[in-house]
Amino acid sequence: MIKDLENGKHEKIVTRFPPEPNGYLHIGHAKSIILNFGLADDFNGLTNLRFDDTNPVKEDIEYVNSIKEDVKWLGFDWDGLFFASNYFEEMYSRAILLIQKGLAYVDDLSADEIREYRGTLTAPGKESPYRNRPIEENLELFEQMRNGNFGNGEKVLRAKIDMSSPNINLRDPIIYRISHTTHHNTGDKWCIYPMYAFAHPLEDAIEGVTHSICTIEFEDQRPLYNWIVENCDMKSQPQQIEFGRLNITNTVMSKRKLKKLVEEGFVDGWDDPRMPTISGMRRRGFTPESIRSFVIETGVSKGSGAVDSQMLEHFVREDLKLKVPRTMGVIKPLKVVITNYPEGQIEWLDAEVNPENPEMGMRKIPFSREIYIEQDDFMENPPKKYFRLFPGNEVRLKNAYFIKCEEFLTDEKGEVIELHCTYDPETKSGTGFTGRKVKGTIHWVEATNSVPAEFRLYEPLILDETAEEIEEETEGAEKTFLDHVNPNSLEILQGFIEPNMAEVQAQDKFQFFRHGYFNVDPKSTDKFIFNRIVSLKSSFKI
Ligand code: ATP
Ligand code: MG
Repeated sequence: MIKDLENGKHEKIVTRFPPEPNGYLHIGHAKSIILNFGLADDFNGLTNLRFDDTNPVKEDIEYVNSIKEDVKWLGFDWDGLFFASNYFEEMYSRAILLIQKGLAYVDDLSADEIREYRGTLTAPGKESPYRNRPIEENLELFEQMRNGNFGNGEKVLRAKIDMSSPNINLRDPIIYRISHTTHHNTGDKWCIYPMYAFAHPLEDAIEGVTHSICTIEFEDQRPLYNWIVENCDMKSQPQQIEFGRLNITNTVMSKRKLKKLVEEGFVDGWDDPRMPTISGMRRRGFTPESIRSFVIETGVSKGSGAVDSQMLEHFVREDLKLKVPRTMGVIKPLKVVITNYPEGQIEWLDAEVNPENPEMGMRKIPFSREIYIEQDDFMENPPKKYFRLFPGNEVRLKNAYFIKCEEFLTDEKGEVIELHCTYDPETKSGTGFTGRKVKGTIHWVEATNSVPAEFRLYEPLILDETAEEIEEETEGAEKTFLDHVNPNSLEILQGFIEPNMAEVQAQDKFQFFRHGYFNVDPKSTDKFIFNRIVSLKSSFKI
């Protein structure tokens, strides 16, 4: 690109991000966004957001709005905002130009026949009997196509290139098809629509895009891209550059598959926190910074090997580590009564907001005779090396005192429902007590002031590492990616948080001691819902 600027080929670099508004953006799109905006930024250039809305069947304004929101949230601001459908008139006249030059023709073959005539990688294609229609007749028929005189699929317009080209994309590709469908932007104005391969190079050229960055599967289309730009007499000549798609282990990313997960009720919408969509990741608690560093650090190669999903977790931990407050929350509560602590007394203890970032200051946490701890932090018959509570054992309560388990109460089923402990006032945190040591430190919340909260814990939605490669229900296929959906991807638990958190807002993030990073779900209503973004260490092994 530097060369293009230096030798005067371009005065300014112009890129574009061209989503089709047929679904929500996912993390793969984030890679394309970061590349397009990033490259233009590096060279002080411009980037357009362009909706590639040339296929009326699948597109919707809901998607247009979500895409704008997601691009902004990722931290990018477009220069021009365009809709490919606003170029339909110009595309139509460029198609007429091709017909006039003898470079396009109306074909009456059916879709099946066209496929058959196209040949294979090893066998050349066969010319359609309609290939040599006179120019006048082609002009006439194309106009009739536009006027709605034919039904869907009755005719198509094809570029006349080379039926024996070794590159199948050049074997007279279809450039216009008939589709009597209402379009989200142009309504019923059109019943013919340009094909992607024809429309995309024209869109780029119309906007003066200099570098058209796309994914690697378009490499074989590059000769067609250049053919269209050249033969349609476009003033500006964009250059197509390919990069490798982003794939992540245990993640499906294509919109077609994500849509299936939504429609078949495997998740609760496109923004379900288990989805790899930008809106899902936002709701889960990922930050734009973490997504950007993930994309940048995992690199721009042409290869498409899947990136380990734990890399994403790594980058969000790194981002949140120094930024978010630490706090305590009990996810599976077990009540503890501290029998030697005065009844009715509340004591406010000092704790750092984030020990790794002292600038965040201190917080106050209440302590009293009744607290909650995790059920897992008590065992009646512990195995070796279990350093938490069991009858007769002593542990440290984080930021508070040592407590010792004196007895436990069970219900009629034998489940432990309450512990009775004693505390040692000498052992208060921060007083430098060195009298004796304990091996376990557990977290807790004071029971009478605590705030109820719901915790949602996640596992990967898909249990197959290479899920993206599993093809969809082709007839007779034994398994589809839907067979790999994890039935335990969501666990909902009811617990308690510290009272100083009663004022938290949607999207606030915290590190809960021992449990990991959490985000306040924006759909929390009467109760706080905390989505676990990631645990403190990666623990999930398949
Ligand atoms: P999908 O298969 O998910 O529908 P798409 O390529 O059809 O993806 P578009 O809306 O056409 O989706 O994509 C807009 C841009 O994002 C394109 O330039 C596309 O190449 C890029 N893109 C889509 N998926 C990925 C991915 N996994 N990695 C990198 N770039 C991607
Ligand atoms: Mg697509």
